[in-house]
Amino acid sequence: MDTQFIQFIFSAALIIFSCVHAQKTDEHEKFIDELYQTTLKNGATYDLLGQLCHKFPSRLSGSPGAAAAIEWTKTVMQQYGFDRVFLQDVMVPHWVRGAREQAAIISGRQRTELNVLALGRSVATPAGGITAEVVAVTSLAEVAEFGREKIAGKIVFYNRPFAQEFVNTFRGYVATVDQRSKGASTAAKLGAVAVVIRSVGTGDDDFPHTGSLHYAKDSARIPAAALSSHGADQLARRLLKTPNLRFFLKLHCQYLPDVKSHNVIGEITGSENPDQFIMLGGHIDAWDTGQGAHDDGAGTMQTISALRTLQQMGYKPKNTLRAVMFINEENGLRGGGKYAELAVQNKEKHLVAIESDAGGFTPRAFGIKGGDSSLAKIRTWLDYFPDNTITAIKAGHGGADINPLNRADGTPVVGFIPDSQRYFDYHHSPADIFSAINRRELELGTASLAALIYLVDQFGM
Ligand SMILES: [Zn+2]
Repeated sequence: MDTQFIQFIFSAALIIFSCVHAQKTDEHEKFIDELYQTTLKNGATYDLLGQLCHKFPSRLSGSPGAAAAIEWTKTVMQQYGFDRVFLQDVMVPHWVRGAREQAAIISGRQRTELNVLALGRSVATPAGGITAEVVAVTSLAEVAEFGREKIAGKIVFYNRPFAQEFVNTFRGYVATVDQRSKGASTAAKLGAVAVVIRSVGTGDDDFPHTGSLHYAKDSARIPAAALSSHGADQLARRLLKTPNLRFFLKLHCQYLPDVKSHNVIGEITGSENPDQFIMLGGHIDAWDTGQGAHDDGAGTMQTISALRTLQQMGYKPKNTLRAVMFINEENGLRGGGKYAELAVQNKEKHLVAIESDAGGFTPRAFGIKGGDSSLAKIRTWLDYFPDNTITAIKAGHGGADINPLNRADGTPVVGFIPDSQRYFDYHHSPADIFSAINRRELELGTASLAALIYLVDQFGM
């Protein structure tokens, strides 16, 4: 072939390619634009989340509330006419808080009651409660420094404030949460009789924040509870005046036998690759303190709503879209584990697993774990997302319920990253209720998740 002919072919191919490419880009831009408009105007997420929060506010694993929420989400997806809706059996732990906890500062005959919440998985106090002197510390290391002499027989009070210096509040959470997760066992090894912590939260208020603790195998299990930031400040002030102050704590928690529960799954069948899944999920269980509105009612209802919106827009996916409400994220992670186990057993192929579990706030980014090529590919889609929504694709992330799938078969996992400034004002506390949700922010999250699903369906991973 002569050079001119080659040049001609090359230019022709380039023109054809640019036309096709331009046309495609317009088509996808148009679809995603319409997707955001539809969701902002008529999205179902806010209404669904209102129903979930008001009908089933208490959804801790094994509870009647969790069981009822599972049945309800199944019915919602059936009523939407999803092609297949089914339950996946999961045995879950059944820890209960019991009657309302009590905590009080005791000074002579004076008794000052404080708001308190047992930490998840804590054991109860003896029936009459525990009264003991308090030792205030700010770290696990300080407990070790104090040693048995100062710790034995005492209630250890972990008073480290939330690490506020990070823009990303999840970094602050990680930097502070060890007093909740490991504080009890660290203090028990030196003979402490109970632990109270300053809540791991960003707010300055009177809401205690619960969350799981982990008992070490080689130490006694002692009761542990959270005080609000105001309560912790009050106790700290009183300790300055009266160092040998006594504290009263009464918890009624119980471990009941494991309960059969479920992950709830809804699907819209793919037209070209019905056996290839694009999975989106959140967790249906929540702590029993508020209504689990941001954590993670928002993620589960965004999941259903994202598929619903694509369905209502008449979109026929090439791959099967799968919505998953995981059970037991908060105190066991058994739902995510079971999902991964069955996916491997049934040789299911997932293009991607996406999770929304960081609150119903304004979308900012997606994080991806697994496969550099997927990261590079998703980054080329950034222009499809409207300004002030998804502006970055970050390496590393995923989600607590989907990471087991990544570990089991290498499926790339994507975590939805909304604005994090207010999340830890609500997280695991009585303040995590429906009125803390902003409709537009929540629906923008749904639209961003639906747009990502659409792009993966169109371009693969
Ligand atoms: Zn969560």
